[in-house]
Amino acid sequence: MADLIETLREGLPSEAVVTDPDVMGSYANDMASFCEAGTPAVVVLPRSVEQVQHVMRTATRLRVPVVPQGARTGLSGAANASDGCIVLSLVKMDRILEINPVDRIAVVEPGVVNAVLSRAVMERGLYYPPDPSSWEQCTIGGNIGTASGGLCCVKYGVTAEYVLGLDVVLADGRLLKTGRRTAKGVAGYDLTRLFVGSEGSLGIVVRAVLALKPAPPEQLVLAAEFPSTATASDAICQIMERGHTPSLLELMDRTSVHAVNALANMGLPDTTEALLLAAFDTPDPAADLAAVGELCTAAGATEVVPAEDAAESDLLLQARRLTLPALEAVKGVTMIDDVCVPRSRLAAMIDGTAAIAEKYGLTIGVVAHAGDGNTHPTVCFDASDPDESRRARESFDEIMALGLELGGTITGEHGVGVLKREWLARELGPVGVEMQRGIKQVFDPLGLLNPGKLFA
Ligand SMILES: Cc1cc2nc3c(=O)[nH]c(=O)nc-3n(C[C@H](O)[C@H](O)[C@H](O)COP(=O)(O)OP(=O)(O)OC[C@H]3O[C@@H](n4cnc5c(N)ncnc54)[C@H](O)[C@@H]3O)c2cc1C
Repeated sequence: MADLIETLREGLPSEAVVTDPDVMGSYANDMASFCEAGTPAVVVLPRSVEQVQHVMRTATRLRVPVVPQGARTGLSGAANASDGCIVLSLVKMDRILEINPVDRIAVVEPGVVNAVLSRAVMERGLYYPPDPSSWEQCTIGGNIGTASGGLCCVKYGVTAEYVLGLDVVLADGRLLKTGRRTAKGVAGYDLTRLFVGSEGSLGIVVRAVLALKPAPPEQLVLAAEFPSTATASDAICQIMERGHTPSLLELMDRTSVHAVNALANMGLPDTTEALLLAAFDTPDPAADLAAVGELCTAAGATEVVPAEDAAESDLLLQARRLTLPALEAVKGVTMIDDVCVPRSRLAAMIDGTAAIAEKYGLTIGVVAHAGDGNTHPTVCFDASDPDESRRARESFDEIMALGLELGGTITGEHGVGVLKREWLARELGPVGVEMQRGIKQVFDPLGLLNPGKLFA
């Protein structure tokens, strides 16, 4: 241990090497429940690529595991420390290096906060679409690590669609450059895409070239109340089938609506079974909202209320972004599922989740990036009650089983981490797991990068 700390200090400033147990404790885990977390040997906060390379060379020489971290807002335990590891926090590498309107790219360090980048490019008339609800905290490095999505992905796609090239420090400290900064490029295997969603298990992202879009017109939001999740799901299918391109299509069930009202008194309709939020950032959003409003009414909506202006739209989005914290406040702790199903199976997924909640006697609120079929059934439980905790874990697993049965995936955007590693094998099958383990072996032959994540 003394050797490790001493060697790290040779290539890092003293304030970048943290050994205080209390401070290190705060780096032990991300925001997921039910995920084991170990005690790190040291936390390092490098500010340059060379310093990251020094950390990785040291780790390889001394055979010490490394857990990369962004803002630790992850929901699968993917950033949790393992015993005796080096926690490698990238949050101090937070410079936006370039915004280039001609090439429509931004070049950033991994610790840049998503919202900071979004605002910076917006000032130049550009748009970085991936917008996880945690965007005020989470980092671009973490977004790449988890391949995160967000509210606007129904129209603009997820993080993977925007990462053009990466600089990655490999396990042994070498610097790998992947991808490009051009609009097109097909030279060799797509290693850039491989790193997106790799949860820190293949290398440390130290720089990213991100694609930008021209800033769209301001979006307008519509709220539609439904008497059942089935009628709301029907409206969603209609909207997609008719070729509409909403910039957001989100669903909140009754439990979620109540939780948000209880937390923040947002005045959402308390009597609705399902609240659908649809938005358009098209040249004539009011006309698009009117057309979608008609579809909602035809599907059974009891009330359809288009926002009158951007301020009203923002309020509705704020309410949506508050859903997870609001559900957390119900019982103190939540487990957030992330099952994504084909949109056509959304009603079956949500109704099946309600049946699971009833079977286990639990409150499970469902909020969904409905346009993507990506549901977040959120199990609310009292962690001090062992029986309730057991039922929470069992219901969480049953929801994933239901998702697979409906042709979906166990994770649409939060990743596998520790929480779903047994389930990854079920989804991939033995051949899939063998190929993925082979890739891991190529990049990390000593198994030092984020051990215990992804694979059981
Ligand atoms: C309230 C709330 C709302 C959320 N909403 C969404 C949402 O809408 N959509 C969504 O997709 N997610 C959402 N999340 C989950 C989470 O915010 C995302 O997964 C986010 O991308 C994590 O970023 P982070 O910086 O916190 O990364 P961390 O949690 O610190 O790390 C995530 C993973 O990335 C790896 N990693 C981090 N930095 C690097 C790096 N530089 N190089 C290599 N690997 C690295 C870590 O090892 C880990 O495996 C939400 C979370 C919360 C708490």
